[in-house]
Amino acid sequence: MAYIKVIEGKGMQIPSNPTIGYIEGDGIGPDITKASIAAINASLEIAYKGQRNIVWEKVLAGEEAMENTGKHLPQESLDLLKKCVVSIKGPLTTPIGQGFRSLNVTLRQYFDLYANIRPVKFFPGVPSPVKNPEKMNMVVFRENTEDLYMGIEWKYDSPEATMLRKFLSDNFSVNLTDDTGIGIKPISRFRSARLVRKALEYAVQNKRKSVTLVHKGNIMKYTEGAFKDWGYEVARTEFGDKTVTEEEYLKQPEAFPSRIVVKDRITDNMFQQVLTRTEDYDIIATTNLNGDYLSDALAAQVGGLGLAPGGNVGDVYAIFEAVHGTAPKYAGMDVANPTSLMLSGEMMLRHLGWNEAADILEGAIMSAYKDQKVTQDLARVLNIKALKCSEFASEVIKRMRPIK
Ligand code: NAP
Repeated sequence: MAYIKVIEGKGMQIPSNPTIGYIEGDGIGPDITKASIAAINASLEIAYKGQRNIVWEKVLAGEEAMENTGKHLPQESLDLLKKCVVSIKGPLTTPIGQGFRSLNVTLRQYFDLYANIRPVKFFPGVPSPVKNPEKMNMVVFRENTEDLYMGIEWKYDSPEATMLRKFLSDNFSVNLTDDTGIGIKPISRFRSARLVRKALEYAVQNKRKSVTLVHKGNIMKYTEGAFKDWGYEVARTEFGDKTVTEEEYLKQPEAFPSRIVVKDRITDNMFQQVLTRTEDYDIIATTNLNGDYLSDALAAQVGGLGLAPGGNVGDVYAIFEAVHGTAPKYAGMDVANPTSLMLSGEMMLRHLGWNEAADILEGAIMSAYKDQKVTQDLARVLNIKALKCSEFASEVIKRMRPIK
């Protein structure tokens, strides 16, 4: 078996037949994984005629792992994902009960997958709640490892919250009532800078127009506001010859014809801007909580979460995933929409640099939507006959054509 290697300073060394890890996931996970792997394999075959292919390595996680090993995420699975470097996963149930941490959060932290990357664009034929969904073509870079998601919080009546309230009162004259729970929002220079750096690198590589730093710095100056300041600092110090601030650009647009415009927007404004001035936004870099809300809201503008792909990417490891959950009521029924995971597979192919196969896969999915070949989630909105999950995969594969 051939594994991807990451060499410092040189990046990923990818063999022609790398072993890629896959987690089927719970609920609809096995159905959408089967459909997506079939589509990815077909795109590789058409693009490279056997010269490049993926050896799929199953990695146990979630309910299946629990049944087989007594653990939702056994150490052997973490070791396998590490060995594979790049993996793809279906959705996992978050086990309910005290002391359980979301498996997704665990994976992101274990592998330091600090950028959650969510491309959002419209596929003609998909029902949308807005008038001009075709104006949407954004990629959200959401910080994945800090902010309120670090889970540093205490219940109002815990000894910790009581101690903290007393500390704040004694030292800073901040007086909180006894019924106040406390959460902490850490935002650091290092983690903000590396996230914005990734967004800027992507913008440069993909010749994008702008990077918008989304923050709530007018209220939270030393966390959200600092994220914005550190973001501008990275743009200025590391991408100075490739970027221009919006302020400079507006003074003299003709002076910067091919620079990436770096701008910032306050979160609440941004939510209305993406609806009213959709075409003005391109790459978005933002903190964890803002990114969580914004990426789902953007996905809704172009047809919902069933179509939205995602990747969790760090400096070494990457795990691509469907952004929706396990939709347990459809488990094993072969009716779920596999597009989110298929498009995550497309992102994974681009991450490997296999853009020819990625283009073929994306083109075939677009072609299916254009002719309104859809699963029940969209068929019921369009009032047309639904394809099963596996039939949608066959439809996509049938439409694959070599890129000329
Ligand atoms: P969900 O699984 O995303 O499902 C909510 C609803 O969204 C479904 O009932 C269905 O709507 C629709 N849906 C989602 N994915 C679909 C698909 N591929 N095809 C068709 N319809 C789809 O959200 P949830 O019910 O809140 O979460 C269930 C479990 O998933 C929880 O344990 C949660 O923790 C977990 N989860 C995991 C991830 C992850 O692994 N990344 C992410 C989110 C949630 P209709 O009922 O309207 O048909």
